[in-house]
Amino acid sequence: MFETGVRQFRMALSLIRSSRLDVANVGRLVADALDTIGEFGGSADADTVTDGPFADPAIRTEFQNRAVRRTAQRLDRLSPFYQQRFSAVGVQPARLSVDTLGQVPTTVKRDLVERPADFHCAGVAPVLTTRTTGSTGRPAEVWLSRYETELWPAVEALSGVLREEILPTDQMQVHVSSRATAAVYLDMAVCRLVGAGCRVLGIVPPEQALASLTDGPTLLATYPSYLAQLVLAAQDLGLKPADFTLRRIDVGGEVLSEALAAAARATFGVPLVADAFGMTEVLPVSGRRCAAGHLHHDPGTGLVEVLDLAGTGPAGPGELGTAVITPYYPYRECMPVFRYDTRDVVRRLPDGPLGCELAGVPATSTILGKASQLLWPGGRLVTPRDLVEACEALPTRQWPARFAAEVRDGRIRLSLPQAAVDGYGHRATVAHFADRGLEVDLAVLPDEQAAALRPLRCDLRETTFAEPALAGT
Ligand SMILES: [Zn+2]
Repeated sequence: MFETGVRQFRMALSLIRSSRLDVANVGRLVADALDTIGEFGGSADADTVTDGPFADPAIRTEFQNRAVRRTAQRLDRLSPFYQQRFSAVGVQPARLSVDTLGQVPTTVKRDLVERPADFHCAGVAPVLTTRTTGSTGRPAEVWLSRYETELWPAVEALSGVLREEILPTDQMQVHVSSRATAAVYLDMAVCRLVGAGCRVLGIVPPEQALASLTDGPTLLATYPSYLAQLVLAAQDLGLKPADFTLRRIDVGGEVLSEALAAAARATFGVPLVADAFGMTEVLPVSGRRCAAGHLHHDPGTGLVEVLDLAGTGPAGPGELGTAVITPYYPYRECMPVFRYDTRDVVRRLPDGPLGCELAGVPATSTILGKASQLLWPGGRLVTPRDLVEACEALPTRQWPARFAAEVRDGRIRLSLPQAAVDGYGHRATVAHFADRGLEVDLAVLPDEQAAALRPLRCDLRETTFAEPALAGT
């Protein structure tokens, strides 16, 4: 245990000093954590280890100021994009703090798409590239260095093991698009570090996924829209919780509705569908949901600001804003972004202590949708999340929800496919939305148009030669 202590101390020290992290050291911490679990039958209190120091606001601010300065100073030396940006607005990176960060304009996806070469830091060799899925326009491409490809899974494996979210006895089944290189690679590398099994299948016909899911996996990683297809296919096939060995489902990248989460828990017999936030451009900064429904942002790897939607300054307590994320050095090396405006809308929480189990970790509301998709019928806010929650709660259970919504004459005009209304009725559907505070004018479209209404990641279907068949059938 002495060696473990030395390694933890060295890791803490390098975080504060902030030299590059020793990846092998982090890897050994994963092994130490596994040994501890093996020996004492339970893990350390992970939140104390990973989040504990940040619960004190003064310490957190001091850490953030140092991290922001060190990240900006490095970018000023090595990143052509940020050299220009800092000098254009007269910012001195060595004097930045969380209070003066607003002087640096936010970076947007268009910057990454149009000037990718300018984001490459001098002297860093790119080894692996990953792209956004393109669901919100032209994809952005982000290159990772070898150090990043080794560090991110090591850090993720460490926190996963400390929280017992992944153990050597686990087998993970991965259904994300095989073109989401970073996500697939990270899942595989985390499993390798922990010693867990890993089965990467991609977005294949749901029946094929279920055939494998009934054959031993304990962890499932996918998108909410594909999870929806799995739930419906499992129910069609009459599969029950006893047919599965899953203990945990992790989803991300899309809105997960409560109706779908509840159905997934019941169908697969898992206590929790964990809904995490992660985004290619700002990896490895991530967020996780607590039992109270907040989104808690990992304070160690990056800074999350909430800026008002007009971009004039911080959102006030209780107000809507866009999440602006700065991954810290030493977590990003090859193509880092600084104050990246995700356009993902969250609500800043009211000031005051949080009562949840992650109260020491900074939090916002969960993601409500993209800023460009907010509607304001009669001046009242309707978010994509409001619509997904309401659509997926319809008794017709046409999952994942396919709809289009726009404001006409101060009212929401909602288009749904026929199947979403069939057997329930037009009037009952309108009443269902009204019960949720959504006054809609409903248009019903042929089912063939459903997929075009709302592209989802489950549409990134991959073909296979295999016949879909369930084990034992
Ligand atoms: Zn919370």
